[in-house]
This record gives sequence, C-alpha cells and structure tokens, in this order.
Amino acid sequence: LTQGLHRSLQRHPEKTALSHVGEGPERHHTFAQLLHDTACHAAALQAQGVQAGDRVALLAPNNDWLVRALFACWWLGAVACPLNVRWSAPEVAYAVDDCGAKVLVVDEGLAPLAQGLPLPVIDFTALAKAARALAPLPDLRVGGDELAAILYTGGTTGRSKGVMLSHANFWTASMTRGAELNNAPDSVALLVAPLFHVAGLGRLVGQTLVGGRCLTLAQFKPTSVLDVVERQGITDVILVPTMLQALMDDPGFSPARVRSIDRIAFGAAPMPTDLLQRALQAWPHAEFFQAYGLTETAGAVCINLPPNHRDPVALAQGRLNSVGRAGLGSEIRIVDEHGRDLPPGQVGEVVVRGPMVTRGYWKLPQASAEALRDGWFHTGDAGRMDAQGYLFIVDRLKDMIITGGENVYCAEVEGVLRTHPLVSQAAVIGLPDPHWGERVHAVVVLADGAAAEQLPLPALRDWCRDHLAGYKCPRGLSVLPALPLSAAGKVLKTVLRQQVAA
Ligand code: ATP
Repeated sequence: LTQGLHRSLQRHPEKTALSHVGEGPERHHTFAQLLHDTACHAAALQAQGVQAGDRVALLAPNNDWLVRALFACWWLGAVACPLNVRWSAPEVAYAVDDCGAKVLVVDEGLAPLAQGLPLPVIDFTALAKAARALAPLPDLRVGGDELAAILYTGGTTGRSKGVMLSHANFWTASMTRGAELNNAPDSVALLVAPLFHVAGLGRLVGQTLVGGRCLTLAQFKPTSVLDVVERQGITDVILVPTMLQALMDDPGFSPARVRSIDRIAFGAAPMPTDLLQRALQAWPHAEFFQAYGLTETAGAVCINLPPNHRDPVALAQGRLNSVGRAGLGSEIRIVDEHGRDLPPGQVGEVVVRGPMVTRGYWKLPQASAEALRDGWFHTGDAGRMDAQGYLFIVDRLKDMIITGGENVYCAEVEGVLRTHPLVSQAAVIGLPDPHWGERVHAVVVLADGAAAEQLPLPALRDWCRDHLAGYKCPRGLSVLPALPLSAAGKVLKTVLRQQVAA
C-alpha cells in the first residue's frame, strides 16, 4: 500500500500529498516529505521492537500523525490496527488485547484511554521525535495476501469484530473506486470520515495510489467542514447521510460555499430520498455516487454512478435509491436462507465474492465460517436486485422486525416517518411483544420548533397508514432529543433498544 508514495515521488515529489487542517496551524506535506517521514517512522516503530507481521494499535482522530504511522506500518510490513476514538478505556483495552498489539501509538489528547495497559504505549509526538533521529528504513514492500490492517466493525448490530484485511483487499477496493469514481490526481479529498473505519481508510489508500491530495480533519463539525471546503477548494468528499444532513442544516451552509466539490460519494447507511434530493439541488453540477460496502469488503462493492441520480430515464426506473451495480472486481447475488439464487425483484440476503473480500474475522473462526460460505461472503443485509443488476438494500437482516409472521423492513418505515413535517430524524426498532412476537416501535427526533404534544402516536400512525400496510405502522412511539450515533454517523440500534426499554 506504499506504492502510491513511490510512484508519486517520481511524478510529482513537490506536490502536496497531505494537509492537516482545522484546529491550530495547518500542516502540509509534499509526497517527498511524506515518503521520507514514513521511512523514518518505520525505523522508529522498528526501534520499539515492531517487526513484519506484528500488530500496531493506533489511537488518534484523523490527522497527519496518524497517516504517517499507518504508512509506516505498511512500510515495515506490520499490521495497522486503528482503534475507534469514541471507545471507552475498557473497549480500548479489549481491542489492544484482542489484536495482540506489540505497541500502542496514542494521540496525546487520548492518553487517558491508554493508562495502565499491559503493553508499551508511545504518543505520536514521541514517535515523530524518535523518527527524526533515525535513518530512513528501506521499504520492505510487503503486499499481496499479507495482512495490512485489522479494522474493527462499527458495532451497529453488536460487539465490534476485528476484520482481517490484506494489502490485496485494499488494493482491489482502491482500483474499483479509482475506476468507477474517476479519481484523478488533481483531486483534493477531504478525509473527515474516521480513518479507523473502512470508508475513511480506504479513501486515504485510494487517493494516495492515484497521487491525489488528502486533507485530514479531526472532527466532523459542519462549521469547520464548510470553512475547510471553501478555503482549500475541496473537490471530493465521502459523507454518510447524517453528515450530509448536518452540513446542509447548518445556518452557514450555502451552495456557493461548497461549489468546489464536484464529486460526492455517500453510503454506509440508507440515504433518505428527501435528503438526497435536497443535496442534488444544493450541488447542481456535482456528480453523485452511492457506494455500498462493508468493512469486510475493504470498501465499496457496488456503486451507483452518475448520471443515474439526475437522468430522467434512470429516475423513472427507480434508480435514485439503488446502491448501484457490482463494481469492478466484485460479484453480487441475492440468495435465500439455503443459499439458492432468487429471481430479480425478490428480497433475500446479499452475498459478495471478489478479491476485496476479507479472509475472515481475527481470532473468530466460527463467525468467519458463518460469514464466508462456498467462497461467498454473507453480508447480513437484505436486498433485491432488478433485471439489470441494480441492487437495492432493503434492511439489515438483524434489524428486520417479524411481527405476527410478517417481515417489516425498518428502513422502509423510517423513510415514511421522515416525510412527516414534524419529524427531523427517525429510527424504527422491534420490541418484544407477547402477542405479535415483535412490535414496530418508532423513535423520532422532532423538527426544529415542534413539540411532542403535536405528534401523538395515533396521528403518526394515520400518516404511516396512508403509505404502508397496517402491520408496518408503529405501535409505539418515543420522542428523543437525538439518536445515538456511532463514530461513523450510523444509528446504534442496540443502544436505542436499551434507551427505549429503560
Ligand atoms: P457492525 O457490523 O459491527 O454491526 P457496522 O454496520 O457499522 O457495524 P460496517 O462494516 O461499517 O459495520 O457497515 C456495513 C453495513 O453498512 C452494511 O452491511 C450495510 O448494512 C450498511 N451500508 C453500507 N452502505 C450502505 C448503503 N449505501 N445503503 C444502505 N446501507 C449501507
């Protein structure tokens, strides 16, 4: 994964590869500097006892320190294990132990999370200082099936699992993205999606491979994103739907301020139609890409390409909400519970095959065997495909509610709830019910200025009844000030169930 650095050194050594922006003074690194610093950081890691194949845990928000440490791991053939900065100290301790890290490199601001851990802990400043005093190490050029990273899943549906991803997995996913998204060396990509998740990390890798520039921003705050986009001329962003909504809801948002963005990739969670339509209007000239993928696939396996989001023919075929067709290198099928193919239009489990697919979960052979069957990775997502191969994600199988023997896909009900004028955000969960097995429960965040009394359950049910079958309409309602979100901006349904039950 260091290949992009070597290639860029020949082509444009003095071009800016990486900038850290946001709080404090900006820091810029040319490709020549990034390559040199990577080689010296690899030497500093080696001085800590790290060898090829060892795991290195990294705990930092998105910044240039983290990027250098990631490349240094790959330079040395070590396995990078970037950890979630929103974890508590016990969660960090669990992951560090789980991956068997040789060392933990930690951001100074997060040092309290690393106290008392039974392994060497070094902060990024100390690593950089050690690197400056050392001669650059030659690149071991580890690649292919060797492990590049263990990435912990978002934990949306339960405990995070460590996904083993090889250099080849990331390489293929980057090539898919490069080919389909038309990533160009003159692009300026904002990395605000966390680098400890696959969307952010995959983007960093892909962008460096094509010789494009990356900007890291530690935290997603609409005001700082708007400021950075305007000042730095960002051309490419990857945003999850909740980020896109927060950005457009910000009082400082205006299409003129974000005009430089000409490629918007979105995904990771269902995109509400109204939100997408708003975004298409706000960026009338930008190309939109919907990506579908998992940690286990090192990035996108399906991409809905332009002009599908604006083309009247594609829209008439309902493609606005599709996650697209199998991207370069991937194959997708829809199967029933016995692994048999289902005809177009029928809902089943989405399974994926291709060189970007993980070999399995770290130290979880049973979970790996359950997920990888006959060479196909079982995504746990319910979806359907049309006759032209366009995939539509219907729900996560674990989130699907079975009430009175009928399947209810939360995403469908959430889409209807969101259209209510008093609702800003909505999530649907299944609660245990003695009669129906489960019952549909709605959780909403009210629109600005709305009061809970204005939205009694019967009124909300009537609204839903106009669009949905009776069994899909919520039988319970909770109004919350905000939905619990993961670091990737996804609704944490396990947490939500606990909150509602409490
Ligand atoms: P966990 O697997 O631990 O519950 P997670 O959901 O955050 O956590 P990820 O690997 O980050 O794990 O996310 C993959 C999931 O995200 C997919 O299985 C799918 O449900 C959802 N997803 C990804 N892209 C899209 C998309 N474009 N539209 C709808 N859902 C998507």
